Amino acid sequence: MKKFLIPLLMFAFPVLVSGQQFPVFSVNLIEIEGKTAAQTEKMKRAAKIFERVMNDPEFQGELRSQTFKSDDDDDLITDPTAEQVIEKIYAAAELYKPEPNNTADVYWYAKKTGFWRKITDKCDTIGYGFQGQKSIYTYTCLLDEKDSMAKLVGHIAHEWSHKLGFTHRDDDDSGIDLTVPYVFGDLVARHAARWINPDYALEENFCPRIYANDCG
Ligand SMILES: [Zn+2]
Repeated sequence: MKKFLIPLLMFAFPVLVSGQQFPVFSVNLIEIEGKTAAQTEKMKRAAKIFERVMNDPEFQGELRSQTFKSDDDDDLITDPTAEQVIEKIYAAAELYKPEPNNTADVYWYAKKTGFWRKITDKCDTIGYGFQGQKSIYTYTCLLDEKDSMAKLVGHIAHEWSHKLGFTHRDDDDSGIDLTVPYVFGDLVARHAARWINPDYALEENFCPRIYANDCG
């Protein structure tokens, strides 16, 4: 009987041998407010896809192979390793809700794109949030744009990572692309695209295609 014990243990815990385990991750929309019902619906779908991506082993594998580099002194961890980023992101201890709960606790609002912004910015700036505050704002120009779902999912991931304490400079310095919010947000956006049925805008009951069988 004893000689079966070791092979059995190896079989039972393969994930622990190969590296850090990813906990099941949730996205909890504590407050969500579009300017229209359609915008709110789109934000809810984006949050659902964000959650799917976070639990996707292919995304997790790619996240583990990323390189991160801080571009300011206030970053949560200076030049974090991928393992450190994964630990912080999946623990999901927001500065305003610091108990780790493997849950993105999200306060998300639409912000009307003003006339002047529409002319000068052309929706280059898609949203913002302030360090230390709960709220995330997304401009209505992005919410109203057709086929902007993947970008929207990446955006909510980017802004939410700020709530954990990850930062980047506000000017367009050359190092911005390697900071946690940008690397993480861009990777989420890229994987979100895989989960979006190209016809999602036409479907009444949207369901990411890989999960087509369990959306009900
Ligand atoms: Zn940012």
